[in-house]
Amino acid sequence: MCGIVGYIGDRKILPIIIDGLKRLEYRGYDSAGVALVGNDSYFIKTKGRISLLEEKINNSYIDGNYFVGIGQTRWATHGEPSDLNAHPHIDCNGEIFVVHNGIIENYYEIKKDLIERGHRFLSETDTEVVPHLIEEYYEGDILKAVLKAVNKLRGSFALAILSKKERDKIIAVRKESPLIVGIGKNENFLASDIPALLPHTKNIVILKDGEIALITKDEIKIFDMQGNQIGIEKMEINWNLEQSEKKGYKHFMLKEIMEEGEVLKEVIRGRVKDEKIELNEIKDKDFLRRVENIYIIACGTAYHAGLIGNYILTDLLNIPVKTEVASEFRYENPNLSKNSLVILVSQSGETADTIASLRVAKKLGAKTLGVVNVNGSTIFRESDEVLQIFAGPEIAVASTKAYVAQILTLLLFSVYIGKIRGDVDEDFEKFIVGEIKRVSEFSEILLDKKDEYLEIAKEIKDLDDIFYIGRLLDYPTALEGALKLKEISYIHAEGYPAGELKHGPLALIEEKVPTFAISTDERVFEKIVSNIKEVKARNGKVYSIVRDDFKGIIKESDRSVIIPKTHIYLSPILSVIPLQLIAYFTADLKGLDVDKPRNLAKSVTVE
Ligand code: GLU
Repeated sequence: MCGIVGYIGDRKILPIIIDGLKRLEYRGYDSAGVALVGNDSYFIKTKGRISLLEEKINNSYIDGNYFVGIGQTRWATHGEPSDLNAHPHIDCNGEIFVVHNGIIENYYEIKKDLIERGHRFLSETDTEVVPHLIEEYYEGDILKAVLKAVNKLRGSFALAILSKKERDKIIAVRKESPLIVGIGKNENFLASDIPALLPHTKNIVILKDGEIALITKDEIKIFDMQGNQIGIEKMEINWNLEQSEKKGYKHFMLKEIMEEGEVLKEVIRGRVKDEKIELNEIKDKDFLRRVENIYIIACGTAYHAGLIGNYILTDLLNIPVKTEVASEFRYENPNLSKNSLVILVSQSGETADTIASLRVAKKLGAKTLGVVNVNGSTIFRESDEVLQIFAGPEIAVASTKAYVAQILTLLLFSVYIGKIRGDVDEDFEKFIVGEIKRVSEFSEILLDKKDEYLEIAKEIKDLDDIFYIGRLLDYPTALEGALKLKEISYIHAEGYPAGELKHGPLALIEEKVPTFAISTDERVFEKIVSNIKEVKARNGKVYSIVRDDFKGIIKESDRSVIIPKTHIYLSPILSVIPLQLIAYFTADLKGLDVDKPRNLAKSVTVE
C-alpha cells in the first residue's frame, strides 16, 4: 500500500515523479505530495487523488533548478486523509523531507519525547516522527542521521528521504515494505513497485529487508542497518511498459480480465510439454515424496485460489491439506514439522500477513513454496521453492487475472506432486493435460459474452444484497464472486456453501435479494436444483453460472450463463469469468471508480 517514487538526474524532475505516482496510484489514493530539492526547493501536498495534486501544481509551480525529487500517494493508516497528513512530512526547519509506506508502531513514545525536546508537529501521522528524529541526529551527514533514526523505529517502513543540506542524494530505507531502485544512465530512480520504473529502465535493485540505499545521480550504494556497506544485486525486469498501460480499455480491471486467455497460456508455457507436466523450477523433488501435510496460506482473492488448490490436493493426495487466512495462521500454533509443506499464495509477493506466515513456517522447520506473480518480491526470495504465475502486471485493485493464474498454477503443482508420489497415473496426467490445454480457448468463449453480463449488471446495480452459492469447487467461486462484487460495486454480497443457505441466510431471501448459483459438478447438480427451488419459493431471483449440460438448472433459473464442460478441477477458472465481468459492469454502470475502490488498495503491505 502507498506508492513512493524518487528521481535523481538531469531531466525535469516533476513530470517523472508525477508520472511515477500515477502508475502507482493503485497502491493508495487518499492523498498525494511531492518535494523537489536543488538550488531551489518546491514542496506541495494535498488530500485526494493525483489529479488534484496536478491542479494544485498548475496553480503554484515555479520552475527552478531542482536536482532530486520524491513523491508519495498515500493510503492512510494514522490520521485521516487531509492536506496536513499527506506526505512528504518535514522537520521543524522544513529542510528534511520524508515519504513513508507502512506503520511506525512506536511513534507515540517517540513523538512525546520529541515534543518534550521542543519539536513541533503538524500532522497526526506516525510518519512525522521520522523527519524530526533525523533532524535531532543530524550532524552534517544525512546517511548517519538516518541510520540512527531508523534504529529507533519499530514496525514496517519503506522511506525515501531528501535533505536541503545534501541536495545530491536520496536515502531509501526498506524494513518490510517494498522499495526498488531503478538504474539509469546518469540518473537513478526509486519506486515502491515496478510499473513506475517501466518507462525508464529495466535494470533494478530490489532492496532487501533491513537495507538502506544511498542514491546519487551516478551511483547506488547499499548499507545494512548498522551502516556497513554491502554488495548490490542487480536484476532485469521481464515485464514491458505496454503490459502496465490500459491499451484503450476504459479500466485496468477490464483489460486484465480480457487478458485472462493469454495469461492461462503463459502459466503453462514450458511447464506442459506433450502430455506431461514438468515443473523444473522445483529444486527439491525428493521432498515432495516425503511431505506429510500441506498448508496453503493466503489473503483475499488468493485465499479463494488456495481453497481450490486445497480441494484438488485433497482429492489427489493421501495427506491432510488445510487452507488458512494468513492473518490468522501467523498467530496460531500450527502443526508443522520438517515434512510439512507450506504454500504461500500472493500476487505481489509483498502481502504483509503472508510474509509473516512464511517466516513462521520457516521458523518451525517446514518447507515453503511461494506462488507469486512478482519476480524478486519478498515471498519470491524467501521461499524455499517458487512457482511464478506469470500473469504480468496487475494494476486494478480487484485481482482478476492473477486469480485464474493462481488456480492453474496450483492445479499444475497438485498433479505434479501427485505424480511424484505415485497418486496420479500417466493416464490421468494425459487426460488432465488435454483439458488444461483447452482452458484458454474456453475462457475466450466466456470473455466474449459481454452483452449477457451487462444485462445482469443492469438488473442488480441498484440492489443492496446478493447471495452467491456453490458446492465443492463451486463454493470458492461463490466466495470470489461475492468478494469481487462488494469490492468494486459496494453492494453487500455473501458467498455460501449452497447447503448452508437453509441454516440462516435463507431468512434474508426475498424479491429484492437475488442469488447467483454456480454449478459445474455433476455429483451435486441435483442438490443445487433443490437449493435454487428453495430460493425461488421465497420469491428470490436466481442467476445461474452453469455447465451447458445441466438443463434442469437452466430451466429453474431466471437467467443463466453457460459454461463449457471441462474437468471439475478447471471449472473454477471458467466460472469466475462471468462473475468478474458482472461485478465490473455493475460498478461501471454505477459510475464508480472501478480500479480504485474506496478504502482499499493493492499490495497490502501493512498488517
Ligand atoms: N502510516 C503512514 C500514514 O498513515 C503511511 C501510510 C501509507 O503507507 O501510505 O500516513
